[in-house]
Amino acid sequence: MKLEGKVALVTGSSQGIGQAIAVRLAQEGADIAINYRSHPEGAKETLSKVEATGRSGHIIQADLGSVSEVRRLIASSIEHFGKLDILVNNSGIEKHASFWEVTEADYDSVVNVNLKGVFFATQAVVHHLMKTKQPGKIINISSVHEELPFPHFTSYCVSKGGVKMMMRNLAVELGPFGITINNVAPGAIETPINKSLLNNPEKLDALLKNIPLGRLGKPEDVASLVAFLASPDADYVTGTTFFVDGGLLWSYQEQ
Ligand code: BGC
Repeated sequence: MKLEGKVALVTGSSQGIGQAIAVRLAQEGADIAINYRSHPEGAKETLSKVEATGRSGHIIQADLGSVSEVRRLIASSIEHFGKLDILVNNSGIEKHASFWEVTEADYDSVVNVNLKGVFFATQAVVHHLMKTKQPGKIINISSVHEELPFPHFTSYCVSKGGVKMMMRNLAVELGPFGITINNVAPGAIETPINKSLLNNPEKLDALLKNIPLGRLGKPEDVASLVAFLASPDADYVTGTTFFVDGGLLWSYQEQ
């Protein structure tokens, strides 16, 4: 167990990748602050899976799109567990729209959760680590689309590209405090964010043809990399994006 004695907050951990990360970090010995926005049943499911590992969990409702809620989330996690060592910025949303039809409200909802929320959650955790003079680990769940265009999801790509540059800046700024920061960039993973894709055999088939490993990823495929980055094995790793995409990013083939 590599995370014995550590406390981790996983945002958006009521389902999908976030839930798998919460459970995996608990299996490695960490206590877990579980966050959800609108799916309390999912958060309870995560809690019971965390408790089944023998670790403790604590559920906090908060919308990552609001900075005051983000600050309350970090403060409540620290208040409950007495500290916070690991932050996994996992919450994310996407909205399909052609560029010329994107509304301000949709743009704001995507960018506020995926970028502004990550920015201020990280800032609040950094304040805590600096005050307590502790090292820490920040892991952002980004996307292959921090690099790869995703037509009709421009606000999503804007947010993920922003998280890429935020991570690179902070690796430099936070290194002297013993705080590492890295991105994990999933490709197509079987999760609720992909519901419409999973229900469309034609689209799914076309996507699978672009994945060299020939299958969608599972949330656990992402969680195992996060567990490594959160552990002392990754103490010298910072400022980098790790892709978990079955080879999708580099699979362009001329037909
Ligand atoms: C998106 C999915 C998409 C996948 C691969 C992810 O970041 O959330 O909707 O299928 O990238 O393109």
